[in-house]
Amino acid sequence: MASTTLHRTNKKIADIMDGVSRAVRLPGAYNYINGQWKASRSGKTFDNINPATGELLGRWPSSAAEDLNEAVVAASEAYASWRLVPAPKRAERILRAYQVLLERKEALAQVMTQEMGKVLKETRGDVQEAIDTALYFAGEGRRLFGVTTTSELADKFAMTVRSSIGVCGLITPWNFPMAIPSWKIFPALLCGNTVVFKPASCTPATATLLVEILEEAGIPAGVVNLVHGSGSVLGQALIESPVVRLISFTGSSEVGSSIAAACGQLFKKVSLEMGGKNAQLVLDDADVDLAIEGALWGAFGTTGQRCTATSRLIIQEGIYGALIEKLVQAASKLKLGNGLDADSQVGPLVSEDQLETVKRYVDIGLREDKARLLLGGRRATEGVLGQGFYFEPTIFEGAPDMRLAQEEIFGPVLMVIKVKTFEQGLQVMNGTRYGLSGSVYTRDVNRVMQAVRDMQTGITYINAPTIGAEVHLPFGGVKHTGNGHREAGQAVLDIFTEWKAVYVDYSGRLQKAQIDQ
Ligand code: NAP
Ligand code: MG
Repeated sequence: MASTTLHRTNKKIADIMDGVSRAVRLPGAYNYINGQWKASRSGKTFDNINPATGELLGRWPSSAAEDLNEAVVAASEAYASWRLVPAPKRAERILRAYQVLLERKEALAQVMTQEMGKVLKETRGDVQEAIDTALYFAGEGRRLFGVTTTSELADKFAMTVRSSIGVCGLITPWNFPMAIPSWKIFPALLCGNTVVFKPASCTPATATLLVEILEEAGIPAGVVNLVHGSGSVLGQALIESPVVRLISFTGSSEVGSSIAAACGQLFKKVSLEMGGKNAQLVLDDADVDLAIEGALWGAFGTTGQRCTATSRLIIQEGIYGALIEKLVQAASKLKLGNGLDADSQVGPLVSEDQLETVKRYVDIGLREDKARLLLGGRRATEGVLGQGFYFEPTIFEGAPDMRLAQEEIFGPVLMVIKVKTFEQGLQVMNGTRYGLSGSVYTRDVNRVMQAVRDMQTGITYINAPTIGAEVHLPFGGVKHTGNGHREAGQAVLDIFTEWKAVYVDYSGRLQKAQIDQ
């Protein structure tokens, strides 16, 4: 492992990245501004806790707005030259980042599991998503196509080109601490923009290691800048800076809504990927075992902390009893534990705050007349689990209008709802303010196509769980989940570029569109 990785990260993280203890550190110098690793001007720090054990992994700078503004200035200066680097050359740096990510996959996953709790298999998948994204956008360097078209006038040529936007402010959550930043950073850079990156406070190490990889890949100084610290302080500074032309945010709908309002007033381009209350609908003719396997993975994978997590399981009445009996039995066998242990299936929640949120919702469920607890409902405290933020996989049975069936919990809590018909199932599925992902299990092709047409979601699965997006397809949702943009694949290029229409008149005379007939 490159020793450059080590001195910038805290000792524990450095040990993971190297396998040996190292003495050389630059404590606190984890902001990356204009190609320099720096401490915050505030001198304050925040703790990075391992949610599986409660132990302190390291301290990161709690940066001030001035740090962020310095990063914005650096990004603005670097933009002048980066935007003129040919896209295939920008893509070559992304390809180098791809290679380093690939080499470092296992070590990164080890850090990520300790930083945010999900099991190693899943943090490896998180890194793999960044690897796939880097490869995809490296290839995009020689595409980035516009269109040519005819002009209504003679001796005139028309085409569209994508233009870069400028300085982009990127704000990301902790649940996919590598994949989500990569979804934003790689296309932003490929399109010729420069970046100020504000990662989630729960996962600063992953962000630091990713930016270091970009540095190693030869991304020039100022093109990517990283500033750690509180979302409200730095988010505000990013939004208010007149130099920042675009905000790309992934996180909760509450924060997204306030960002959208602020950006709207300033005419700032803003893309938002937010919450979900995703449902899996299982019809009477479905393969029940397959549906259960899907529900377990969708609901309890990543401890339910995925924007696409299955938080509602809607079951048609003919198979309801048999399905929930098997489901509860299977869920009760899921093994909770430290994500580093190979046999753990469900890790801890990311933080004590998140644990409190889950407890609060379970209490709400327990007080609801219409709800019945089928499994779990408690913090898991046996043995070493007591040191971490573990919660038992929890299943409630209830009605679609309950708060538990309407609000995003972001934890291992599944709500099951019985319906009589397919149509009623779709109505329940669509009956929330969110619209990210949804899934239908059935063998009836007519139902499949009706569901594809009528589900109010950005992502639709048939006979597969609500999680499992691939990087070359558009990712995002409708209603309160998004604001009309899509990340990943070709679609994200519409976030990080503006279309420019170009007319070239080679007639040598004035020609007037719509007027010269
Ligand atoms: P969050 O509280 O909204 O935070 C997300 C990011 O925004 C963090 O970097 C946070 O910084 C920052 N932030 C907080 N307050 C801010 C403010 N006032 N102005 C600007 N930035 C601010 O969400 P989270 O708890 O980290 O993540 C869970 C949420 O993300 C869930 O709702 C989940 O559904 C959603 N999510 C959506 C997708 C998707 O693609 N649709 C993917 C993953 C997650 P701090 O960490 O410093 O608070
Ligand atoms: Mg942590």
